[in-house]
Parts: sequence; structure tokens; C-alpha cells
Amino acid sequence: MNTTQLTGEHRDVLVIGAGPSGTVAASILKNAGYNVKIVEKQLFPRFVIGESLLPRCMDNLEYAGLLKAVEQGGFQQKFGAKFVKNGETCDFDFSEQYTKGWNWTWQVPRAQFDHLLAKETEKKGVPVAYEEEVVGVDFRNDGSSTTTVRKKDGTEYTINARFMIDASGYGRVLPRLLDLDKPSNFPVRASFFCHLQDNQRPQGIDGNRITIVIYSQDVWIWIIPFSSGITSVGVVGAPETINRFEGSPEEQYQQWLNDVPELKDRFAGSERQFEPRKITGYSASVKQLWGRGFVLTGNSTEFLDPVFSSGVTLATESGAVAARLAVRQLGGETVDWEKEYADYMKHGVDVFRTFVTTWYDGSLPRIFFSKESNPDIKRQMCSVLAGYVWDMNNPIVRKHERAVKALAQILS
Ligand SMILES: Cc1cc2nc3c(=O)[nH]c(=O)nc-3n(C[C@H](O)[C@H](O)[C@H](O)COP(=O)(O)OP(=O)(O)OC[C@H]3O[C@@H](n4cnc5c(N)ncnc54)[C@H](O)[C@@H]3O)c2cc1C
Repeated sequence: MNTTQLTGEHRDVLVIGAGPSGTVAASILKNAGYNVKIVEKQLFPRFVIGESLLPRCMDNLEYAGLLKAVEQGGFQQKFGAKFVKNGETCDFDFSEQYTKGWNWTWQVPRAQFDHLLAKETEKKGVPVAYEEEVVGVDFRNDGSSTTTVRKKDGTEYTINARFMIDASGYGRVLPRLLDLDKPSNFPVRASFFCHLQDNQRPQGIDGNRITIVIYSQDVWIWIIPFSSGITSVGVVGAPETINRFEGSPEEQYQQWLNDVPELKDRFAGSERQFEPRKITGYSASVKQLWGRGFVLTGNSTEFLDPVFSSGVTLATESGAVAARLAVRQLGGETVDWEKEYADYMKHGVDVFRTFVTTWYDGSLPRIFFSKESNPDIKRQMCSVLAGYVWDMNNPIVRKHERAVKALAQILS
């Protein structure tokens, strides 16, 4: 489309999706004085999985001016992460880190957390059009675009924007519309989860800390306690393993609870908040992270695996970096998106990729549970688990692949 006679709304920036990536990006652009709109397919509060945050995302929420609003949520504070294997524990405390940064964050029911972020973004003056879906987009040669938005009643309208941020998460709007999807090179995995009343939660830090239980080399369980007394419990593994029990979702889930010693007594007879849900094949990738007039952020780019709770941190980081670059570009500067955005994000994702790959091949758990644990190495690892994957002074960040392999060999 090359006409200059445009009808419809006009915006500097259109953001697709009001998840953490979209609200962080929109807030930063609004703070810089731009006219931004978010189009969001669902009505908030809406359910999404992904409840354990990492300290690094606090920097992004703070930069976007959203941290104070989240503080009002009364969420469960998270000071570390605990891994359990055959009754042995490996505990990471975020106050014992290599990188200087935040040493705590939150465990959040995402419906409330994302809604708080969206409401605060609206308060800044960014309209969020709920229950409206982006269904088409047309880019012009100068990078500006006309987007077709479908309302709940089926009527459509257009938005013209100078720049677009696709933060549509699992909706993957631009990857689908522009044929940018690329299969992930991780094996297909499934997860099976629910929110449970946690009346027998252990007292003190043990009861509130996120716990990852290693069930077998490629099956693990998350236990994420919320401040409300509800706890999120999920099992992750190959689809055939996750689906190995018979019966209704409730019956299958109960058999999983019975089968895991760390869950059996604690959640015996616990009330479910919804029928247990399964998600399969959520890992995804893209051919490119940006193009003329647009950038992909958060889960619409690449999603690896939930084991290290990196999703919201990468979503807010990419939202923040993309928005800062968009501010420069809209202000007339030339931005090297490949270097300043794609290379930067790929580095962080690759550090987590090393951790995820070596988690499933068994070498990372070997390091975690080694009797010869070295406190310096543990602090370096802890900073990766806190999301500080861009601190090139950290040897484990700098040489992640070689470092983890070498450590696993030494400690085996
Ligand atoms: C099993 C599992 C467990 C996980 N656990 C964790 C965890 O513990 N910690 C963590 O940090 N991450 C976790 N994640 C990842 C986490 O869910 C995501 O990384 C995170 O939600 C990404 O945020 P986002 O802002 O990119 O997208 P989302 O939060 O998904 O938001 C995208 C928004 O875009 C909207 N949208 C979609 N299509 C359209 C459209 N066409 N038009 C308009 N709007 C649209 C959607 O309605 C949605 O609200 C987990 C993921 C899985 C699968």
C-alpha cells in the first residue's frame, strides 16, 4: 500500500498485546512523549501461565515507571530458588550473587500482575483497547503501517502508526502475518498445571520459596507459592510422559500429585482453583527479530522452556530495549537494530539456552548437586538464575557454553 490518503486512527506507535512486554514498551514510549496505543485481544484480568519472576525484571519495571504499581499488589516476595533431587536440596539465594543488582523479586498470579501493569500504563495516558484483535497489517516503504483491528462485535477499523511493537506473546501476530515463524530446535515438551489451595504449606522461607523438583532427567515439577495461600503446581516433560495416566484431567493430575513425594502430603485433598490444564509444544522461534517499521518482543520472538523462569524477564527486557531504540529512531536517529537489539537479545537468550540444554542432558543438575560446590561458581550461576545474563564480567555469562560443559566434566 503506498497511498498517503490515510483513513483511520493515527499513532506514533502501535503495540500489540498488553502482557508485560507490551506494557513495559508502551510505558517507556509514553514517558518519552510519544502517542502510543495498545490493542489487546482479551479482556483483563486474563489467565496466563508464567508466575515466577527473576530479579532482573525489576530493573525493567522500574525503568518503565511500573514498579511502584506492582508493589501495591502485595505479591509473594521471592528471594531465591530451590532445586530438589532425590531428597537433596540445592538452594540459590539471590543475595549471594556475582552481579550487583536486585536480590529479590515476586511470585505472581499473572492475571493480577499483568492487570496492574496494564492499568498503570493506562494511567500514564496509553489507551488499551481490550477485546480487540489485530488481524492484518500493511507496511509501507518508509516503515509506517496500517493495521486492521477487529472488535468483539466483528466490526473492523484501521490504525496508522509510524512504528509497531509486536508483543503478542503466544498470539505471534507478526511472525504469522509476515511468515517469520521458525520451529524451535528444542524437543516438544508439555506441561500440566493447576492452582491449589496450599493449607499445609511449610512455615517460613521453605514454604514460600519456589521449588523445582527433579522427578527424572527430563521431567520436573514447579511449586510456586503465592501470598494468597494458593500455590501453582505444574509438571513438565515429554508429552507421552505427561499423558501417561488415564482418566479426566482432574484424575490424571491427582495421580501426578500422588506420584511425587514432595507433593503428595502437602496437597492431599487440596481444593483446585480451576480444572488442571495442559499446554503442549510452547517452544517457538523466529527467523528475524525486527524489520523496517517493526520489532518483535517477548514471547512473540522465541520461547525456550519454563525451567528457569526466564519468560517475563526476557519479555520485559526486550520490551524495554526495543522501546528505547524506537524512541531514538522516532527522534530521527539511525538505529542499528541488528546489533543493538537482535544481537543483544540473542546473547541473553543463548545464555539461558545453554542452561536449559544442560538442564535436560543432566550436566547442570550435576553441577547444582555436586558435593564439591565452589562458592564463587555458585555466585556466578546464581546471577544467571537471577536473570543477569548480560553481565559480561561474569565468567559463566561470558563463556556460558564452555564453562558449563567444563564444570560438569570436572564435577562428574
Ligand atoms: C508452562 C509454562 C510455564 C512458564 N513459567 C514461567 C515462569 O515461571 N516465569 C516466567 O517468567 N515465565 C514463564 N513462562 C513464560 C511466560 O508465560 C511468557 O514468557 C510471558 O507471558 C511472556 O510475556 P509477553 O508479554 O511476551 O506475552 P503474554 O503475556 O502472553 O501477552 C501477550 C498478549 O498479547 C495478546 N494478543 C495475542 N494475539 C493478539 C492479537 N492478534 N491482537 C491483540 N492482542 C493479541 C494476548 O491476549 C496477550 O494478553 C512459562 C511458560 C510456560 C508455557
